This record gives sequence, C-alpha cells and structure tokens, in this order.
Amino acid sequence: MAKPEGVVAKPGSSKKYKTGSWRTKKPVFKHDKCTDCRICVMVCPDGVIFGADKEYHADMDFCKGCGICAEECPVNDIEMVLEVR
Ligand code: SF4
Ligand code: SF4
Repeated sequence: MAKPEGVVAKPGSSKKYKTGSWRTKKPVFKHDKCTDCRICVMVCPDGVIFGADKEYHADMDFCKGCGICAEECPVNDIEMVLEVR
C-alpha cells in the first residue's frame, strides 16, 4: 500500500532513527550546582534527558546538540563542549 502524500516516517518510528551523529557539540552535565528543577528535562526538544536527585544525563544516541538545555539551565550546570570523534 502506498504511503499517504507528505508522510516521511511512520508514527512511533523515531526511536530507530538515531540522531546523535548530527552533533557538533555535546552537553556535559557538571553535577555541581544542580537544583533538581528539571527544566532541562522539560525543554529538550528530543526528550532525551533523564535522571533524578541532581544527576541528569542525556541519551547521546539521540541528543542532537542543540544546546537548549545548557541555555535554559538556571544555574549553568550544563556546558556545551565540542564533540570529538
Ligand atoms: S536545568 Fe540545570 S539545575 Fe535544573 S535539573 Fe537540569 S541540570 Fe539541574
Ligand atoms: S543539547 Fe539539545 S537535544 Fe541534546 S540534551 Fe540538550 S536540549 Fe536535548
């Protein structure tokens, strides 16, 4: 059966498309001044930040390195660093 016009991916299929290779910078969670506000979790457009008790991480298979988490962290506890491959 042909795909409907405009459809580029089937719903629910994004998990298999790993986008981490798109990054030029990566977020480093410093685990220093974190206040557990969870703003980074809420603002990540890819929904790839997880953690609790002031220990947050990003799933690097999917993080695209946009830097929004670092920009929005109110205590600057996330730093964007150059991705080295
Ligand atoms: S936004 Fe910053 S302070 Fe808030 S949970 Fe994330 S790392 Fe911690
Ligand atoms: S850099 Fe962007 S995609 Fe990666 S964890 Fe932060 S907000 Fe999410």
